[in-house]
Amino acid sequence: MAGSAGMSIAHARAAGAKEIAIASSNGARACARAMEVLKAGGDTLEAVIAGVNLNEEDPGDSSVGYGGLPNEDGVVELDASVMHGPSRRAGSVASLRNIKTPSKVARLVMEETDHIMLVGEGALRFAKAYGFVEENLLTEKSRLAWLVWRKSLRDPRGHNNWGGGLSKPTAWLKRQFPGVDESTLAWAWEVAVNPPTGTINCLALNAKGEMSGVTTTSGLAWKIAGRVGDSPIIGAGLFVDQDVGAAGSTGRGEENIRVAGAHTVVEDMRRGMSPKEACLDVLKRIARNFNNDRAKLAQFDISFYALRKDGEYAGASLWSGAVREGKRTPRTFAVNDGGPSRLEPCAYLLERS
Ligand code: ASP
Repeated sequence: MAGSAGMSIAHARAAGAKEIAIASSNGARACARAMEVLKAGGDTLEAVIAGVNLNEEDPGDSSVGYGGLPNEDGVVELDASVMHGPSRRAGSVASLRNIKTPSKVARLVMEETDHIMLVGEGALRFAKAYGFVEENLLTEKSRLAWLVWRKSLRDPRGHNNWGGGLSKPTAWLKRQFPGVDESTLAWAWEVAVNPPTGTINCLALNAKGEMSGVTTTSGLAWKIAGRVGDSPIIGAGLFVDQDVGAAGSTGRGEENIRVAGAHTVVEDMRRGMSPKEACLDVLKRIARNFNNDRAKLAQFDISFYALRKDGEYAGASLWSGAVREGKRTPRTFAVNDGGPSRLEPCAYLLERS
């Protein structure tokens, strides 16, 4: 197996490697931007960071950077990691507050220090030393969602210290946020009841066969202050091996950390699995951690993305997409290989009924 994968990689190199960027489903714009940078001759790490900066700076993306949903104290805490294939280096930051673009800070950790990871107060001081300016990352929309979440909490007797609960959420919210529209209210209610995960992972390969990756996130909504997910953990949320390929993940980080997911995907590819097989193999390990109990596994989802050095790629999720009105909406991931970005369906391990 390993021999045949080695041959196909060598063959691709001889034929000229493809330029390609892949990302989680929120990364169509990011992939297009990354491709622009690659085509202009930029480095693969510069490309993926330029791509995800669009999400980090977008207040409309509530899972990454500015506008990300906050922790349980109402404070946005960001995690990010980068890996640069050609130099085989990595950098990351975790629990970083008040800086919109943690991916850029992670890159500086990689380039300007002999450390790999900075967290919390130290990461913030480091960012400020390099000229980053502190900003409030909590948008009004995210603050609204956080207040709704706080009001939705109940002790076993149904009591909540934050007032009369959500018996009339719409009236209360409209008083607090005059002018807020119905769809934002519905969204705030939904994210309060079902704390979302988010994140963007982006991986790129250039024509020289060089690869890099980045993963950046505001993590799990309403997390305990200081909670670090998989995104900044090298080998879990991201892994790049210039000899083999790159992998990243979005979704429930705790489950990913337990299987060192991105590293395992890359090692599986090294042993000859295709990107799709490798992602599914890691999802099987996650399922095994729950004795394949579908009821337990149904409580979360997680996806992996893999880009092999010869340009072959895949995305795979634990669960098939949601079924709405009898129709399955597949989970997707973003791909750009030179034209417009497109969303492709993820493979999946388990079918939702
Ligand atoms: N993996 C991220 C985390 O656990 C969240 C996500 O991707 O949705 O922090």
